[in-house]
Amino acid sequence: MRPPASLRRKTARVDRILEARYGGPRRRLRLDPLSTLILTVLSQHTSDTNSQRAFERLRRRFPAWERLRDARVEAVIDAIRPAGLSRLKAPRIQRLLTRITAERGRLSLDFLRRWPVDRAKAWLRTLDGVGPKTAAIVLIFGLGKAAFPVDTHVYRVGRRIGIIPEGLSVEKAHGWVEALVRPARYGPFHLLLIRHGREICKAVRPRCVVCPVRGQCDFFRRAARYGAATR
Ligand code: SF4
Repeated sequence: MRPPASLRRKTARVDRILEARYGGPRRRLRLDPLSTLILTVLSQHTSDTNSQRAFERLRRRFPAWERLRDARVEAVIDAIRPAGLSRLKAPRIQRLLTRITAERGRLSLDFLRRWPVDRAKAWLRTLDGVGPKTAAIVLIFGLGKAAFPVDTHVYRVGRRIGIIPEGLSVEKAHGWVEALVRPARYGPFHLLLIRHGREICKAVRPRCVVCPVRGQCDFFRRAARYGAATR
């Protein structure tokens, strides 16, 4: 199902307003696609600061990913402890590395650079524990391909504003948002929505009174109609 033109226009307005508020995207650390995948697994259920710390410890202890793949799992658990859930994440990362080596003969995801985005996405989704969000992060930030990751902030903010329909699963929301936004804006808009979700449109008490996109927001319109408090 393709989003209507009116919703595409509304989304572009939201994008412009958020960019005016927060500015352009901050420069991101450029990582190769395999490192992006590892960092994304580390980032599950923790903050960017913690996952970055765990990633740097991992890099220091295992300067080659082959050494990480073949290490004792206890050593990996210890290295990634700052990321939390290390007993789950360590074997998951090692299984990913083993699978990539077994299938491709070497430990690299650079072969995906030559593949069209749909094929690369489908292949990434065959990896154990790689869902639509992780696949999209590897595609856009590791490979520079057009994909829109829908994380918890994007999903919540998008539904409140009304650019992601209520009832649409987070999995289906990926394709929906990709059809709403110009590919050149995938990365910047994704980062703007995350920042907005962290700073203003928080999960528990959204700060609607100071929100620059309240004029576009379905949640705010409904709350105002029923006189609900929106601080
Ligand atoms: S008006 Fe409120 S609910 Fe809507 S985007 Fe802003 S903070 Fe979120």
